[in-house]
Amino acid sequence: MRIIMLGAPGAGKGTQAKKIAARYGIPHISTGDIFRANIKNGTELGKKAKTYMDQGLLVPDELTCDLVVDRIQQPDAEKGYVLDGFPRTIPQAECLTEALEKLGSKIDYAIDVDVPDSNIVNRMSGRRACVKCGATYHIVYAAPKQEGICDACGEKLILRDDDKPETVQKRLDVYHSQTQPLIDYYTKQGVLKSVDGTKDLDEVFAQITQILGA
Ligand code: AMP
Repeated sequence: MRIIMLGAPGAGKGTQAKKIAARYGIPHISTGDIFRANIKNGTELGKKAKTYMDQGLLVPDELTCDLVVDRIQQPDAEKGYVLDGFPRTIPQAECLTEALEKLGSKIDYAIDVDVPDSNIVNRMSGRRACVKCGATYHIVYAAPKQEGICDACGEKLILRDDDKPETVQKRLDVYHSQTQPLIDYYTKQGVLKSVDGTKDLDEVFAQITQILGA
């Protein structure tokens, strides 16, 4: 099962993507996580990506597309995968479609987690991420067991630079101008499914499993 998650930053698509990956036994591939790991490891890619990410801008397509096309050909992705945060532009979607055609494969579902802008800023300011393992929490909707500490690895939780309110509005503007057109793109491919992302986490997941089947 090859799945793409669509939705505004902060719509909860990352959380749902992880749940889908666990339920269906397929890898969760997050371009944001890949960039953050590169930043942490001080790679050239990380250095380049950071300048864009800190401003709420998209990393250029040419730095993104090859990375994903390579990742989806790894052995663990043979049965499928859930892409989270990619594609984010029409050229990225076209690059993916072309690569999949060459591989004789295709996307089965593009799931749009729909949340109005008015909910987003509030949600993002409550997000916290682990400095070490990248696990994400929300101070209201998905709180860690101990405030400010990661359940998974015991490290400190922080508000990521790109989740700060001044960056969030920029990311929303970028989403509307560059990513939202993908809804039409995947509707035309006949694979778009929308879920109501304003519901609580488990309800959204139930909507998704109903689409994907048991
Ligand atoms: P995310 O964790 O998916 O919200 O991504 C965090 C940031 O990483 C974004 O705001 C972008 O700067 C960058 N990023 C992640 N995925 C992509 C992508 N597919 N294309 C361009 N930039 C991306």
